[in-house]
Amino acid sequence: MHKITDVSMEYDVLRENGRIARENYDLLKERDIISVDFMGSIGSGKTSLIIKMAEKLAKNGLKVGAIAGDVTGEDDFGRMKKAGISAYNCNTGKECHLDAYMVHKALHQMDLDGMDVLFVENVGNLVCPADFPLGTDIRVVVISVTEGDDMVRKHPDIFLHSDVAVLNKIDIADAVDVDPEIIAGDYSRLTGGRKGIMKCSVKKDIGIDEILEEMGLRP
Ligand code: MG
Ligand code: ZN
Repeated sequence: MHKITDVSMEYDVLRENGRIARENYDLLKERDIISVDFMGSIGSGKTSLIIKMAEKLAKNGLKVGAIAGDVTGEDDFGRMKKAGISAYNCNTGKECHLDAYMVHKALHQMDLDGMDVLFVENVGNLVCPADFPLGTDIRVVVISVTEGDDMVRKHPDIFLHSDVAVLNKIDIADAVDVDPEIIAGDYSRLTGGRKGIMKCSVKKDIGIDEILEEMGLRP
């Protein structure tokens, strides 16, 4: 668990994370790789979204790599590999978030040659990933209607730390009795009306092209 009670120690940890994140950023920029950090709860559809986007980008001739961040196991890593993504498995052990150092180590072990886009799937968690930037160009938070209509109200920080917010599984909103407009309204209020949450269904391929476009990765 990410739990530091000593305030000065926490400051050092975050400062060191920031320093390494900057190194990651420079390393990826040198190689012209566009990078995206996907944050969000367990089951929101991060892996499926990454795979769907990678398929679309591959059709355009882009080479996509991914880091699968999970506490333990190879489930997401296996799914990514099966989908033809050049993936790296990053098990955090007990940590409930990826930090810049873990990504740094991964980058040194991955084959970055010719890679155009790197997707980093963070550990399923809506709390502390917000505090640990990894050095990616873009941060995306993914939620789904199955989590209820209160995600933005309960976890404003992660939405404020993200460049793009995605609401997945809109095709089953009625079945789970959630009104996507309530979530969209909360997000719009949180961002002072500057941004709208991007509604999608990975399963039905609704709204994915628009999200890629928003991320600067024209499908
Ligand atoms: Mg996943
Ligand atoms: Zn954590």
